[in-house]
Amino acid sequence: MKKILLLAITALTLVSTCGDLKPKILTNKPSCTETSAGRLEVSDQNTSFEEFKESFLTDMWALNPSAAIYVGYYKHDSQLEIPNKERDQKQAEFNQRILNKAALYHRACLSRNNEVDLALIKNYIKASIWYRQTFKGHEWNPSVYNVAGPLGLILNTDYKSLEDRLRAINARLTRVADYYQAAKLNITVPTLEHTDLAIQQNSGALSLLTQSLPKAVAGSSLSVEEKKHLEINTASAIAAIENYIAWLSEKRDLIAQKGARDFRIGKTLYEEKFRQEITSSHKAKDLYERAKKEKSKIHYEMIIITDALWPKYFPGQLMPREPLLAVKTLINHLSAKHVQREHFVTEMKQQISQLETFIIEKDLIDVDQSKPLIVRATPQYQRGVSVASINAPGPYDANATTYYNVMPMENLDEAKAESYLREYNHWIMQVLNIHEALPGHYTQLIHANKSPSKIKSIFRNGAMVEGWAVYAEKMMLEEGWGEQEPELWLMHHKMHLRVVTNTILDYETHVLGMTREEALELMIGEAFQERAEAEGKWRRATLSQVQLTSYYNGFSEIYAFREELKQHLGDQFSLKDFHNQFLSYGSIPVSTIRELMLEDLGALE
Ligand code: ZN
Ligand code: ZN
Repeated sequence: MKKILLLAITALTLVSTCGDLKPKILTNKPSCTETSAGRLEVSDQNTSFEEFKESFLTDMWALNPSAAIYVGYYKHDSQLEIPNKERDQKQAEFNQRILNKAALYHRACLSRNNEVDLALIKNYIKASIWYRQTFKGHEWNPSVYNVAGPLGLILNTDYKSLEDRLRAINARLTRVADYYQAAKLNITVPTLEHTDLAIQQNSGALSLLTQSLPKAVAGSSLSVEEKKHLEINTASAIAAIENYIAWLSEKRDLIAQKGARDFRIGKTLYEEKFRQEITSSHKAKDLYERAKKEKSKIHYEMIIITDALWPKYFPGQLMPREPLLAVKTLINHLSAKHVQREHFVTEMKQQISQLETFIIEKDLIDVDQSKPLIVRATPQYQRGVSVASINAPGPYDANATTYYNVMPMENLDEAKAESYLREYNHWIMQVLNIHEALPGHYTQLIHANKSPSKIKSIFRNGAMVEGWAVYAEKMMLEEGWGEQEPELWLMHHKMHLRVVTNTILDYETHVLGMTREEALELMIGEAFQERAEAEGKWRRATLSQVQLTSYYNGFSEIYAFREELKQHLGDQFSLKDFHNQFLSYGSIPVSTIRELMLEDLGALE
C-alpha cells in the first residue's frame, strides 16, 4: 500500500533529481551498524525486540490480571490484584526495568512497525508513571475501585468451562475484602461526583454477586464442597462491598460539609492529560480555539441551507427571525422522514452494500471484499448501549469475526422507538453507517489488521480511531455520496456540531469553570441537542477529562494533514493513495502517522 503513494511522489521528484530512485528508497533509514553502540545488524535488533515485546506483555498482564481480562488474556484470571503499596512498588520496578530495556533499542535499527511499537511502549510507561505520581486519580476517584467488571466478564465469556471459570471467580472472591481495605487507605479527599459514581457502580456490583453468580453456581456441576466455598466467599465479598459503600456514604457527608475536591482538573493537569492521552501535536487550548471557530462556521453553513430549504418544507410560512431557531425547526421537521421500525435492520444492511459499491466506484480506498462485514441484530446481552456499533475481535483473538451490531426496534415501546427513529432518521442513518462501518471504523480496522501488532491494538489511540470515523463522514459527502443533497449536509452538520461541541464543553468545564446551566445552554441552544442527551453529556464531562475532545482532535488533525499533502503534491495527490497509506500504520496517534508519512515521502526528495 505504501508503495503506491511513493510512486506518485517519485514521478514528481524525478524531474528535479534525475533518477537513481532505488538506492534512495533503500536508504530510507540510516544503517544500523553506524548508529548502534553494540554494532548490531538490523535483523538482530528486530529479533530481540520481538522477544522484548512478548516479555513486556507477559509481565504487564501478570501485574494487571484484571486489565488483561478486558483484552481476552485469561492466564491470570483467578488473581485479583490488591491496590496496595506492595503492588505500587512492583509496578514502579516494572516501569524502570522496561524503560532501561527500551533504551537499548535504536529507532534506526528497527523495522518501521517495531519502531512505532517501541514509541508506544515508552509512552505507555511514561503515562503510567504520570498518572500515578501527578494525576493521582487513585486518591480522589473512588470509582476506580470496583471488582465487578472482571467478575462479570469471567462469568459471561465462554473461554473455558463454566466450572473452571467459577473456580477462578472463587479465588478472586477470597481477596475482595483486602482489595477494598487497600482502596480505603488510598482515598484522601475525593470529588462528590466520583464518590456518587462509586456508590452507584459498586451497588450495581452487588446485583452480580447476589443474583447472576448464585444462579450460575446452582446450574453448574461443581461439587457440593466447592459450591459451599463459593457461597461463603460470595457472602464475605458482599459484606466487603457493602462496607465500602457505607464508608463512601459517610465520606460523602463529610466532604459535602468540609469541602470536596473539585471535579474540574484545571489547566495544568488538563494540558498534560491531553498530551498523554491524545498525543497531539497541538495544545488543548489551540484545539479549543479551533473548535469555537468551527462552531461558528458550521452555524453559518446550516443557516444558508435552512434559508434555501425553508420554502420547500414550509411554503408560505414565515421563517423564525432567530436563525438558529429556524435551523432547529427545520431539523425537527425533517426528522419525521425515517424508515419503519420493522425495516430498520434490513435498511441498514442494504445501505452497507450501497456504501461499498460507492467506495469502489469512486476509487476512494482499498476494500477487502473477501471479508464482508456481517450485519446482525445486536445480541440480547449487548443491547441497550448503542443503536449501532462495530463488534471487533480483541488483540488476543484477532481472527474472530467482526460484526456490525444493529439494535432491532421491534421490541421497543412505540414512543421510544419513534424517538430513536427520528434521531436516526433517513439522513442521520447514512452518516451513522459511514462512521461505524464503511469507510469508518470497520474499514480502518481491516487496514490496521493487515500488519497485525498486539502492541498497537492494545495501546490504540482513541483520537486516531474516532477521528478517522468522523473524517470519513465528511469525506464521503465531499466525494458525492448523497449527491450533495442539502438535507444530508444539514444533518451531517448537526452530527459534526456535536463533535465540535464536545471539545468546547470539555475544555470550558475543566479549564474555564463552565457551570451546568451554561453547558446545557451550549448543547441545547447552540448544538440542537435534546435535553436528555445534553444532561447525560454534562454528567460525562464531570466524570471524564479530555476523552470528549478526542473525536474532534483526531478529525481536525487528519483533515489538516490531508490538505497539507494535497497542497504539497498538487496534481500528484491521490485520495485513495492517501487513505491507504494513512491507515497502513495502524491505530497510532495522528501526529505520529504524519511524521512517519512525511519521512517516507521526504526520503525521496
Ligand atoms: Zn415517525
Ligand atoms: Zn466512533
